[in-house]
Amino acid sequence: MKDNWKIETKAVKGVYSPANGEPWVLPIAQSTTYSYETAENLAQLFDLEVPGHMYSRISNPTAEAFEGKMAALEGGVGALATSSGQSASFVSIANLARTGDNFLAAGAIYGGTVSLFSNTFPKMGISARYVSQEMSVDEIVSRADEKTRAVFAETLANPALRVLDFEKFSKAAEIIGVPFIVDNTFPTPYLCRPLEHGADIVVHSATKFIDGHATAVGGIIVDGGKFDWGKNDRFPEMVNPDPSYHGLVYTEKFGNLAYIVKARVQWIRDLGNYLAPMNAWLAHKGLETLHVRMDRHSSNALKVAEFLEQHPKVDWVTYPGLKSSADYELAQKYLPRGCSAVLSFGIKGGKEAGAKFMEGCELAGQVIHVGDLRTIALHPATTTHRQLSEEELKNAGIKPELIRVNVGIENVEDIIEDFSQALDKA
Ligand SMILES: *Cc1c(COP(=O)(O)O)cnc(C)c1O
Repeated sequence: MKDNWKIETKAVKGVYSPANGEPWVLPIAQSTTYSYETAENLAQLFDLEVPGHMYSRISNPTAEAFEGKMAALEGGVGALATSSGQSASFVSIANLARTGDNFLAAGAIYGGTVSLFSNTFPKMGISARYVSQEMSVDEIVSRADEKTRAVFAETLANPALRVLDFEKFSKAAEIIGVPFIVDNTFPTPYLCRPLEHGADIVVHSATKFIDGHATAVGGIIVDGGKFDWGKNDRFPEMVNPDPSYHGLVYTEKFGNLAYIVKARVQWIRDLGNYLAPMNAWLAHKGLETLHVRMDRHSSNALKVAEFLEQHPKVDWVTYPGLKSSADYELAQKYLPRGCSAVLSFGIKGGKEAGAKFMEGCELAGQVIHVGDLRTIALHPATTTHRQLSEEELKNAGIKPELIRVNVGIENVEDIIEDFSQALDKA
């Protein structure tokens, strides 16, 4: 792979490169373990003295190819594939924080992430402090203290569809002195590359547009490699000896790969939430057509949003590509190639009319998923977000009549026709 290849070429060709006589297409290394000739070879691997694979709980050649392609697409120095997007979010924070620590998180984020942050991290003594995009940089910074370890936000919030104000959040993270972690699931690196806008670490649910075909659950963490872990005393595990590896110091041994190596050799080693070879292969295959799909998803979604916006039975439409959107300016700045597949709208007649619309859909599937190439409609308040409290629902920007649509890559006239007849029935 050439570094100066454009993103479409990297999506197709990066980074697997077969040598003479090797398979043209990335092979699935469906093997739990790896063969070595001497005990010395293995010992060096265990001591992290040489790169290589020892056990598929920690690394695997197929997952490594997926990691390499994602790092190339996002412009990072390294990546770590995980068994799900939830795992990626979990490890991205756990790798920085311990009991007594906290981190700041944008309120408008994915429901599963809110659950992880509000329910599970507190059991480990790590707390999320929610901030909103309406706050000033100073107000965001004032929510931090000496125990703050990260700032977390989503590029395009699921399902609130707020576009992240990168400038504001990255400035706040910089003032606090912690890395800025961005969940870039909805835009994918084709539509937005957070590392170019001040993020330090990027996480994804690969289950969505990366796989793109609703075939495999997966996640990934990409390390921008630019954060200076020694610049303050907030990250002792990064700069002090790790007793579980004979006193190895991550920043000394791995330089700007310290974060992503530590995530793998501590967290993935101990939790075992690595991406399976078959799922890595599917995610990697999805990336080969990422740019083509994201272009079509985005142009179809804009047309559907425009159709819904002028429909008399539709109360409101949220899609940052619409000129009427409050985040239109931010979308033009950070998502110039398109705003991805997901839009939401509210039907006049509220919850009841919404339910009837859902029943009336023929082309659109009623499925709990986004990122699939097929059109999908969903009612979050009664499905994905039903565990959230009213306060959390409000923070996540979810109204009871909201219908979330994943606009697929079918012919857009067919999609509009389906919604038109379903609206007539509602
Ligand atoms: C789906 C999703 C996740 C969680 O990913 P899984 O692969 O389902 O574990 C995280 N963040 C966002 C924005 C998502 O849409």
